[in-house]
Amino acid sequence: MIYLDYSATTPVDESVLDTYVKVTKNYVGNPNSLHKLGFEAGKLIDEATAQIKKVLSLAGKEIIYTSGATEANNLAIFGVCYKYQHRGKHIITTHLEHKSVLEPLKVLEKEGYEISYVSLNEDKTVNLEHLKSLIREDTILVSIAFINSEVGVKQDLVKIKEVLAQYPKIIFHSDITQGVGKIKFDLNVLDLASFSAQKFYGMKGIGGLIKNTNLDISPIIYGGKSTTRFRAGTPPTALIVSMAKALRLAYDNIEEKYKCVEKLNQILLMNLRDNHYIVINSPDKAIPHIVNFSVLDIKAETLLHALEEEEIYISTKTACSSIDYSESVYNITGDKKRAEHSLRVSISHLTSKEEILCFVMMLEDKIERLRRINS
Ligand code: PMP
Repeated sequence: MIYLDYSATTPVDESVLDTYVKVTKNYVGNPNSLHKLGFEAGKLIDEATAQIKKVLSLAGKEIIYTSGATEANNLAIFGVCYKYQHRGKHIITTHLEHKSVLEPLKVLEKEGYEISYVSLNEDKTVNLEHLKSLIREDTILVSIAFINSEVGVKQDLVKIKEVLAQYPKIIFHSDITQGVGKIKFDLNVLDLASFSAQKFYGMKGIGGLIKNTNLDISPIIYGGKSTTRFRAGTPPTALIVSMAKALRLAYDNIEEKYKCVEKLNQILLMNLRDNHYIVINSPDKAIPHIVNFSVLDIKAETLLHALEEEEIYISTKTACSSIDYSESVYNITGDKKRAEHSLRVSISHLTSKEEILCFVMMLEDKIERLRRINS
């Protein structure tokens, strides 16, 4: 099997799974129970939280544990908009956001909020001048993803913050899901940041919203006590502790892992560019982990399933999307056909050069065969 879909999800690290199993077995108490078993579980969560803060160098932040980045994005967006609607109902975002940002914004639009989309520069980074021009008296939230999951475009959060610094009442949220565990970056420029453990070899079903401690937001899930007052429900001790471990492991030798992915990316791109049936959609500013391309005269699904027959796994668009073309590819290329035919390969430091070469060989073979059948 050749797995090239790491941006959709990563396989759980064996030792992370071990931690999950051990904590589940050994810490049976509800962390909010007043007895010893509750106290022990609560203490373990506090240690995990401290570890996450240390690994991510967080200052003045708290972590609201959620079921993943979808919930964290929903909480950030509804939480800010419902809390600060008296200040205004204007939100700024981009066309490169994940569904879990765009869909909540559509709901808010129906409720009378106004959404503005920042235009992109030639290199697909946010146009800072345009961002500045969009800011109004009633702007309450700017939500811009660090890394787009379909094409891999990386935004400069520090530069965006420099623009927003002149407007201290505007809350800056970023979906950092595709960046955590891949790249070191300064999270302290953000007021709110969403992430998910399943993208850095952790368990599925756990993630979080990192929030400035002094920022108040409205909860979206109400109920019994949890680790914070912003999200109710019994804290999942084993998921939280195993996520802290996954994060620590992801940041071990992070620079070497990045360099390794960069090398693989160069081999992959060189081979894809050699094939004149392939057009690359990912811009130069994309992270090396994500390569998006189109084969214009073959349906993306057909190629995906042809590769699947050889046990090679890639993506057509984000697994979470329901429309039949990639909105991100459409927004950066302006070409519907490229967006309809786009394929995403996402690699990891676990990927080998042999896997990349085998994938390229099989892809070329499938393109030849399918073109022959079509003609
Ligand atoms: N944001 C981005 C950028 C993602 O890639 C994903 C996962 N595809 C999510 C949010 C949602 O994460 P989860 O499925 O863990 O809720």
